[in-house]
Amino acid sequence: MTQHSPIHVIGGGMAGSEAAWQIAQAGIPVILHEMRPVVKTDAHQTEHLAELVCSNSFRSDDAEYNAVGLLHEEMRRCGSLIMAAADEHKVPAGGALAVDRDHFAAKVTEKLTTHPLVTLERGEVAGLPPEEWDNVVVATGPLTSMKLAEAIRAFTGEEQLSFFDAIAPIVHTDSIDLSKAWFQSRYDKVGPGGTGKDYINCAMDKEQYEAFIQALIDGEKGDFKEWEKNTPYFEGCLPIEVMAERGVDTLRYGPMKPVGLTNPHTGKRPYAVVQLRQDNALGTLYNLVGFQTKLKYAEQVRVFRMIPGLENAEFARLGGLHRNTFINSPRLLDGALRLKSMPRLRFAGQITGCEGYVESAAVGLLAGRFAVADRTGATPSTPPRTTALGALLAHITGGAEAETFQPMNVNFGLFPPVTERQPNGKELHGKDRKLAYSRRALTDLTGWLG
Ligand SMILES: Cc1cc2nc3c(=O)[nH]c(=O)nc-3n(C[C@H](O)[C@H](O)[C@H](O)COP(=O)(O)OP(=O)(O)OC[C@H]3O[C@@H](n4cnc5c(N)ncnc54)[C@H](O)[C@@H]3O)c2cc1C
Repeated sequence: MTQHSPIHVIGGGMAGSEAAWQIAQAGIPVILHEMRPVVKTDAHQTEHLAELVCSNSFRSDDAEYNAVGLLHEEMRRCGSLIMAAADEHKVPAGGALAVDRDHFAAKVTEKLTTHPLVTLERGEVAGLPPEEWDNVVVATGPLTSMKLAEAIRAFTGEEQLSFFDAIAPIVHTDSIDLSKAWFQSRYDKVGPGGTGKDYINCAMDKEQYEAFIQALIDGEKGDFKEWEKNTPYFEGCLPIEVMAERGVDTLRYGPMKPVGLTNPHTGKRPYAVVQLRQDNALGTLYNLVGFQTKLKYAEQVRVFRMIPGLENAEFARLGGLHRNTFINSPRLLDGALRLKSMPRLRFAGQITGCEGYVESAAVGLLAGRFAVADRTGATPSTPPRTTALGALLAHITGGAEAETFQPMNVNFGLFPPVTERQPNGKELHGKDRKLAYSRRALTDLTGWLG
């Protein structure tokens, strides 16, 4: 048997642990570098691999009607260590998969440290990896150490690495009421690749606007954590409710300015306007421009459904503002997660701009498999875009808009639309459509794994 030189994985969290497992299980030696407990993060408490820093939930385990449940199932079928340990140490949580966090992390640690092909090295990788590391997975997560983050930022460029996510809510396009909203760019301007109708606009009259501003001010908010306050942060991405507090007209002169737009449903210029911009190449998702927020999730749903046209909006993800280190993956990475400008480095986990424990582990799983392909001289085989794994990968490596890229959970809005129809020829809706996505995904995954 050929002796392969090791693959290096930096970061023993959700993504790095899964990547290391996939590599070792494929028969390739792996050196896993984890800085804890030598260097600590602001959120981790233990020295275990795959420590869950907050909630103990992997969210819905429903593989038929929920995209994250589907991702669980796909990962199980790919031999995921994270999913095996979660299933072994689950605790009752209704339809969700929740785990006993200590037993879960201890199990992942034990499986990796007793694997004959895994070497665990405790210590920080404090800059770009040495050149002799020819095949590296960087999976250092949302709290990547500053020295490594700064080295990545210096190499890729100032704008390409963020220390905060500033997420504006994202809605499913087909839940926007176009009998009230309309497509138009300000002054009908045709920008690069645009049509003059690039935004969806939701108009407000004076009364609606003032009620909306009051709701933003009154809404219940989350706080910045103490350690988040010291992180580089920009005045340019203030939470929407902070802008609202600065004066009733601040938003009308900012992201809600009504200029260059006429509401075709009334023929009038609106008093204020909320603009939504296309968020993925498929056009199935739109984000509320400038609406990053610290409002609590339930409050966001209540307040943002006050916007005319969004009364029945379904949110693919809600807004937020958190400490989070991530790169502009759609711009920087190739389809197999390699840094285009230094292909020996491959990225995985939350640093790629996916969001959540499961998504991070899923991208780790793919990175591990791709790293093995590179090491054995094979071409990395990417999963079909119709699978949850493939949809997530496609989103972060090119499907998302690079200009406005922000971390994303897996959701059915990332999948290419299903072509299956009802017996009467009409499009599928609701649960039927979700089921069709899931069935197609698992069939296509079987083909890919086969
Ligand atoms: C405060 C907080 C709360 C969160 N809550 C949730 C939640 O409730 N649910 C959810 O789904 N997601 C949550 N997330 C997101 C969560 O962190 C990620 O989903 C997931 O842990 C990311 O996995 P990862 O492998 O990319 O990073 P991590 O799991 O963070 O793993 C990265 C590892 O890399 C190590 N490391 C960093 N820099 C270096 C270096 N230079 N050298 C060596 N090792 C290094 C770290 O010590 C860490 O062990 C939260 C994130 C934060 C910051």
